Parts: sequence; structure tokens; C-alpha cells
Amino acid sequence: MKAELISVGTELLLGHTIDTDAAYASRELAAAGVDVLRRFTVGDNPARLEETLRLALSQSDLVILIGGLGPTKDDLTKEIAAAVCGRQLVPHEESRRRIEEYFKGRPLGETQWKQAMLPEGCDVLENNRGTAPGCVFSAPNGSLVALLPGPPSECEPMIRDQLMPYLHRFCGGAIASLMVRTFGIGEGSAAERAADFLEMQNPTVAPYAKESEMFFRVTAKAASEQEAREQCAAVARRLCGRLGSFVYDVNGDGTSQSCLENTVVRLLTEQGKTIAAAESCTGGLIAKRLTDVPGASAVLNMSFVTYSNEAKRRLLGVPEELLERYGAVSEEAARAMAEGVRRAAGSSLGLGVTGIAGPDGGTPEKPVGLVWIALSDGEETWVRRLSAPARFQPREKIRFRAASTALDMARRRLSGLPAEEKPV
Ligand code: AMP
Ligand code: MG
Repeated sequence: MKAELISVGTELLLGHTIDTDAAYASRELAAAGVDVLRRFTVGDNPARLEETLRLALSQSDLVILIGGLGPTKDDLTKEIAAAVCGRQLVPHEESRRRIEEYFKGRPLGETQWKQAMLPEGCDVLENNRGTAPGCVFSAPNGSLVALLPGPPSECEPMIRDQLMPYLHRFCGGAIASLMVRTFGIGEGSAAERAADFLEMQNPTVAPYAKESEMFFRVTAKAASEQEAREQCAAVARRLCGRLGSFVYDVNGDGTSQSCLENTVVRLLTEQGKTIAAAESCTGGLIAKRLTDVPGASAVLNMSFVTYSNEAKRRLLGVPEELLERYGAVSEEAARAMAEGVRRAAGSSLGLGVTGIAGPDGGTPEKPVGLVWIALSDGEETWVRRLSAPARFQPREKIRFRAASTALDMARRRLSGLPAEEKPV
């Protein structure tokens, strides 16, 4: 199946809004084996929208229009699409009822009802997060037209939960995919190790480089979903064997959000263990990322942000002499912070981070980008050193990578793996 996407809205052309909906749709469609051939962006202009829709219809099996389903006057997508496909707009009772329910008895203007007018004979995609329903119908040439609302909080769940299951009927067979997530191995080394996998036809394996992580999406097409899942799992297993201890997660979630923290929280929960961090340089990012995961309170009692020597001494018991002798950014300080925070919080694991995030504050011996990270389990303490030329590493990246490395050290410890493995 070949698809084209049309994003509608002047705000997109002006650069005020980034077209995240189309990116999301592209990812979902690709995962389902639908080829996205072109993407268009059109302002709220009826003539150009009509022209673009006619062009897209003439060259693809599926045209997805995103945005312009709302109540305001510039929302024209439905009107244009219905006219191009020779369909009347008719009231849709269920959508009227949902709009009424959404506004809970508040008075409603004519413009709100406009959202419940849908092309005659269409299949409705319910909007569980807002008022404008989506829909799918066929054009006179047999191509499918799908209309989706613009707000990402409405558009993404509609694509995932309604449009994709709807399209599976037309794709022939079933699709399944799995994401293999790695940390600590660079794009080049990962792609080299997985080179033969990247050549495969079915299942396919596609690499994604993300914020110092590498993901591989395995997608299989088969006669049944069960079969597709099994094929995916078999290839993912072999791929994991190739990528070794760098793999921290394999799951069916296609989102590209990092989830090292999910893995750490899961492992801690399973093992009944707790963690605390003493963060300088990352300023609480480790605690933030851990507590982004639901259920984190079972594994994190407290955490510290300790920038001054005084805080490191008073809260973590890091000796003043140690800080004076080696400096606050040193292997010794990171080690003492990890051991100190573990004692102070009474946790199973303690993490200590200290580094220079820049852009200022670097010296030739301790340049911007130098970060020391330590993990203590009460018996042993492991230390890792990060460095990178500052021009490649803006402040945010240095901090994020440091937090990820700390989480990965915890993941490795909890999995009984060495604290560090050098990718060769
Ligand atoms: P609309 O449904 O066109 O009235 O869009 C409503 C709001 O959704 C807009 O103001 C944007 O903030 C957002 N939006 C519309 N289209 C997109 C898109 N393609 N990607 C991300 N956000 C969008
Ligand atoms: Mg709009």
C-alpha cells in the first residue's frame, strides 16, 4: 500500500508548529509496511488544499489529511475532501452526542456542531481526547482518504488505536514489530555488528540513533499476527546475541523515547532494591528520569543535588580534605559521593555524578565534558569517566549522557554484568 500525507495548517508553514503528527504517522505506517511516498504541507487555503489532495489521490492508495477538522472557519479539510470525493456532509449522531457530553451542558455554538458533520458513508474514527472525530472513506478512483485532527494529543492515539487497526485489513496479512534498545555502543559499531541483519527483507531490521542510544526496529510481515510476532522474536533474539550486554530492553513499544530508566526501575522492583543519587553536573536529571517511571517511589526514597563542597560534606559525608586534594570533579569525589549517598539514603545502590557541563569552567586538565560517575552497592564501587570535545557536546547533551551512563551502570550491576564494556 502506498500512502501520501497532507498536513494542513498555516501555522505549520510559518514554522510556529512543528509537524510532529506527520512524523508520528510516518513511523506507524512504516512499521505496518505501508510505504509513505510523499508528504505535503499546505496552509489553510482551500484552492491549494484541493489541488494537493487531487495530486496525492492520483498517485497513491491512501491519502491521510491531518488538521483542519476543528470548529473554526479556517478549518476546511473535511469540506474540501468531501467535495473532491463527491460526498455530502451529513450529521453524525454519535459524534453530536459525544460533543454534547464533552461540553457537559454548556451552551454550544453552531461552529461546534460543524465538527459532527461527516462525509456521507464514511467510517468514523472516534476521538476519545477531543471533539473532532476523524474518518475514512473512498475517493471515486478507489483510493482511501483519512481525515485526522491536528492536536497531537488527539491525532496520535487516533492513529495508533483506530487508523492502524483499520488499515491492517487492507495491508494483507499481519505485521508485528519489536524494538531492540541498546546503550553504550556507537552507531558505527552497532551497525557493523548488525550489518547482515540490516540487509534482511522479512523481517526487516532498521537502525535508529537516538541521544547516545541505538535502537533497532525489527518488523515482520506474515499471514497471521502470531506468526509475525514469532518471526520478530526469533530475529530479535539473534540480534541481541550479536549486540550482547549493550542491549537493555526488547519490547513491542515502537516509540523512540528512551527507557533506560524503565529498565532500571523494573530491575530494582523485581529485586526489591532501592537507589539514590548524589548529583552535581546532572542537577537532578537522574532522579527526574527515574521518577518519570510510574511506580518509581517504591525504589527511590530520596535523592540529592549537591553542588557546593559544603553540601557534599554535610549531606554525603565527603571529607573536606578529599575535595581539596583532588577537586570536586574527580574520580575520588564521585566515588565518595556514591558511597556517601548510599549511606545517607540507606539505599541498596548509590550513584555519584560530578563533572563539567560547560560551556565555561573547563581547564586543560579538566576540560568541559569531563564527567566522573560512580556506583556503589556497599561492597564495591565502580567508576566511569566520560569525556568528549566540548564543541561536539552542548551542555544538555553532556548532562543527558551522564545521566544515561549512570542509569546504565545501575542496569548492568542489577543484571550481574560488568559495569562497563568497551565496544570493539
Ligand atoms: P487544527 O486541527 O488544524 O485546528 O489544529 C489544532 C492545533 O493542533 C494547531 O493549532 C496545532 O497546535 C496543532 N497541530 C495541527 N496540525 C499539527 C501537526 N501536523 N503536527 C503537530 N501539531 C499540529
Ligand atoms: Mg488548523
